[in-house]
Amino acid sequence: MQWFDSHAHIQDSAFASDLGTVLERALAAGVTRIILPASDHIDSQRALSLAVRHRTQKTGAGRAIRLWTSIGCHPHEASKYGSDGTERLRRMITPASRPFIVAIGETGLDYHYDHSPRHVQREVFRQQLDLAYALNLPLIIHEREATADCLEILRQQAATGRLHASPGVFHCFSGSPETAVIVRKMGFFIGIDGPVTYKNARKTLDVVHQCPPDRLLLETDSPYLTPVPKRGQRNEPANLPLIGQKVAEIRGVPQAEIARLTFDNACRAFRLTDVD
Ligand SMILES: [Zn+2]
Repeated sequence: MQWFDSHAHIQDSAFASDLGTVLERALAAGVTRIILPASDHIDSQRALSLAVRHRTQKTGAGRAIRLWTSIGCHPHEASKYGSDGTERLRRMITPASRPFIVAIGETGLDYHYDHSPRHVQREVFRQQLDLAYALNLPLIIHEREATADCLEILRQQAATGRLHASPGVFHCFSGSPETAVIVRKMGFFIGIDGPVTYKNARKTLDVVHQCPPDRLLLETDSPYLTPVPKRGQRNEPANLPLIGQKVAEIRGVPQAEIARLTFDNACRAFRLTDVD
């Protein structure tokens, strides 16, 4: 059984001292593909260097795991984006780095924490939507308590022809089943994370239950959102099968089927054609 963790911040300082062991544990759990989402320019650079370094490393822990990265700016960090933010992201893409960059993000809106002013979040989101469109890259969207504005901005992009038919993933989807239908109609995948294992997950259970099998992705969001029964500890990619197990239970299918279909979905969502 092979698993694809399509969202794990393993470039985070939480893994600075033991990333090798973390990757070994991931591999032992069957997690062979990981996408590193970025939260600002420095983090994008850090994630990218890790993916490149891992690829060229001849020996070492978890070598059989393939890593890719996104580049972008999380809504929390939107006020740091600056007038040259888009240009700085664009400059990270070179012939050498391009094979490792599979998405723009995390980008979106977060009105729960409001770490950046909302109008700035919207502007930075729009700029990254345009960038993703121009570069023909899928998006990793972070949306929390900002559904109406997020959907409105995406509708405007679509109406002006600046949203691809398969535009990416709604990461750690926390919306209603109705919202899930709307974003799926726009072509997005639905990212399911550790909270699906929590007691108050009612809404997410419905989302998982109703989602067509070809649109589900599994993500740990390491080091955050640790699934039950490891809640309280640092999260890591090796925990992905706990999320897969829960999704398999909800859908009443074998775990191996969830592993296979979410693996294939991640390859399609991020247009990875060379995943041997
Ligand atoms: Zn994340």
